[in-house]
Amino acid sequence: MISFHFCAMSNQAPPSAIVTRFAPSPTGYLHLGHAYAALFAQRAAQEANGRFLLRIEDIDSGRCRAEFEKAIYEDLAWLGLTWEQPVRRQSECMAEFETALNRLHRMGLLYPCFCTRKDIKAEIDAAHSAPHLVQMGPDGPLYPGTCGKLSMIEREQRAESGESFALRLDMARAREQAGPLTWMDRDKGRISAEPELFGDVVLARKDTPTSYHLAVTLDDHIQGVTLVSRGEDLFCATHIHRLLQSVLGLDTPQYHHHGLLKAPDGRRLAKRNKSETIRSLRQTGHTPKEVRAMAGYS
Ligand code: GLU
Repeated sequence: MISFHFCAMSNQAPPSAIVTRFAPSPTGYLHLGHAYAALFAQRAAQEANGRFLLRIEDIDSGRCRAEFEKAIYEDLAWLGLTWEQPVRRQSECMAEFETALNRLHRMGLLYPCFCTRKDIKAEIDAAHSAPHLVQMGPDGPLYPGTCGKLSMIEREQRAESGESFALRLDMARAREQAGPLTWMDRDKGRISAEPELFGDVVLARKDTPTSYHLAVTLDDHIQGVTLVSRGEDLFCATHIHRLLQSVLGLDTPQYHHHGLLKAPDGRRLAKRNKSETIRSLRQTGHTPKEVRAMAGYS
């Protein structure tokens, strides 16, 4: 069995200490909802005399930009947040993600998927005449499992011929291996994990040996995070993270999925809406105290 090799950036906490984190992706400027999430995580650590970490989730090299990462540090510091150094940047930890991926592969829990988005859509559309063949998940139709049915020889031949592929989790096998799973949510109580609702999720993409699900689960373990606080839009993802913790033998933190801050008209805040960013509030003369109050923290 391959043992994990954790890089020097790991921040191990004494077992009883609370460790929280804020884990933004540098794909745009932070908005008030991010200020709320960061302040929430820092407050939870402070109240328990614990530690607060910042992590940069930058695995998507096509969308992440250095200017946005720099702005994350500046905007959070301007708001009065402090965090431990060094900051873990996922783009620097690909070898660790690859090790975990190889481990899942050896356990027989991954398969290559050669389908493009177009292929998947076509397959789902074709199955509409037989709706019982299309399984629905919380985010829409599930991957129909096309490449899970390929023979070993076909998989090898297609991969060797240079066809690009993603790696998907064989959900049925992983589920069987893990057995019943739960997690503790500070807001919602004990939750039964139902990762099977999400089908064979992608755990690595072409040229990137990880996906959000794998990276976030490993990082929280490696950094010794004991309380994952994040928006309720990520509640569903925790079903998958709980399964990955089980099959990879990782720690299960507590969770707190908090409500999302909304725009005055009830809309979800978005990075692409420049006027709602912390940066623009700074530029229009708001003080850090005012912005913290707008995010619900005085
Ligand atoms: N990087 C994710 C985001 O910016 C957050 C991941 C998490 O908190 O688990 O939405």
